[in-house]
Amino acid sequence: MTNLIETLREALGADIVYDGNHCPARNRTDWSGAAPTLPDAVVMPRTTDQLAEAMRLCHAARQRVVIQGGMTGLAAGAVPEPGEVALSLERLAGIEEIDPLGATMTVLAGTPLELAQAAAETAGFSLGIDLGARGSCTIGGNVATNAGGIQVLRYGMTRANVLGLEVVLADGTIVSGLNTMLKNNAGYDWPHLFIGSEGTLGVITRVVLKLHPQRRNIRTAFVTCAAFGDAIAALRALEKTLGGELLAFEAMWPDFIAFARDACQIGIPLDTAGGLALIIEATAPSADGDIFEQALMQLIEDGLLADAVVAKSDAERQRIWAVREAPAEFPTRLPGLIGFDVSIPLKVFGDAIIALRDGLARQWPQAIALCYGHVADSNLHLIVHQQRSGADTRDAINAFVYGTVAAFGGTVSAEHGIGKIKKKHLPLTRTQGELALMRRMKAALDPHGILNAGRIF
Ligand SMILES: Cc1cc2nc3c(=O)[nH]c(=O)nc-3n(C[C@H](O)[C@H](O)[C@H](O)COP(=O)(O)OP(=O)(O)OC[C@H]3O[C@@H](n4cnc5c(N)ncnc54)[C@H](O)[C@@H]3O)c2cc1C
Repeated sequence: MTNLIETLREALGADIVYDGNHCPARNRTDWSGAAPTLPDAVVMPRTTDQLAEAMRLCHAARQRVVIQGGMTGLAAGAVPEPGEVALSLERLAGIEEIDPLGATMTVLAGTPLELAQAAAETAGFSLGIDLGARGSCTIGGNVATNAGGIQVLRYGMTRANVLGLEVVLADGTIVSGLNTMLKNNAGYDWPHLFIGSEGTLGVITRVVLKLHPQRRNIRTAFVTCAAFGDAIAALRALEKTLGGELLAFEAMWPDFIAFARDACQIGIPLDTAGGLALIIEATAPSADGDIFEQALMQLIEDGLLADAVVAKSDAERQRIWAVREAPAEFPTRLPGLIGFDVSIPLKVFGDAIIALRDGLARQWPQAIALCYGHVADSNLHLIVHQQRSGADTRDAINAFVYGTVAAFGGTVSAEHGIGKIKKKHLPLTRTQGELALMRRMKAALDPHGILNAGRIF
């Protein structure tokens, strides 16, 4: 290994390759809570050519490589294993082009999401990707995980916002497909194979993103509601009234609200009276006349919603979103928590939550269970915390939750991916045929199995 590190240093320069104590702390673990691990080296290329050269040398040496973006992943995919080289995209960052006529943006993969969002706004557009980790996560990481977030209802997952990619394959080959057009049916739409592949098929180095008309007159409400069925009925009614103006529809269950209020000291804008809290956000074609408020009032009159408060200023809007962003504090308040990110078909979503809650309370009466999620996308986040739980208890909780989700026809990962921590549960969601096909794709693109080995399967 020392030889390879020296070879990498000679080829790329001493300021690109770090080892031992010089490996930065940020490259040792991510937000999943996985134990920090020192990689054999951290390589931080500044150009695609340097990155490709690093991959060519690692491929020739059969050296395993883990790809790293902003390290905000929740599936431990970017956390090094002993003996791996960490390939960090952090210096391969910047906006390369904004085309106002084509409404596209070309960015280097290490660009933080927030920076790309700001550049889009400055150019008079909005980006269709947004998530709580926006300040640190990278566009490359968003594409690699096919990130979801809080505006999927309006713009789809990251996949729906990508027009073209440049990738570097495991052997160092650079493949450029920086398509900027909405329609391009010339052969395989291969970039989609890399979107959501969690770094197992290639390194994403450049991304062409679709830009959307700038969002104007954003209206945000904190809403209370007695039952999940009413919340979904309200969602469908709002889709009819507001057309394509809906931006976000987030739900938080009573335990989540109580924990955010009592443990995280976050102000709750309305008394939820033991029911659900929703954050509903929409744009409006004009600032005049409040269709949004009228639509909410109508739903209160119809008995689907209990109460609502609409933000009157940006500060009020931030206070509303602060409730939904409380989970950023959960790892410090609930050390060792298990975070679940699953999808469940909406028609059985409410029943599945009851089954999950009842089963957890029966088997682990002391456990804390907090539910929230991007419910318009069938996406439930569930936090389970059991004091002083050992590996056996954690395994049993995982098996129970994933087993229940599968029994309701759900999937073990809605948006965070499989990484290292959900591998065991993947067959609950995918057939043997699908898993065999995935392995064949992996073997075709990475025959030595050096890229993100042990992630996904
Ligand atoms: C507070 C918070 C809120 C979050 N909210 C959401 C949410 O709403 N929706 C959601 O989907 N996720 C969410 N996440 C998870 C996380 O932010 C996303 O998965 C994000 O897309 C990861 O981007 P990253 O740059 O940090 O990637 P990393 O964590 O660095 O890597 C994630 C995976 O992608 C691979 N990878 C990274 N960059 C590349 C690349 N250039 N080429 C190939 N592979 C690469 C890594 O090897 C790893 O397997 C949240 C995380 C936090 C901490």
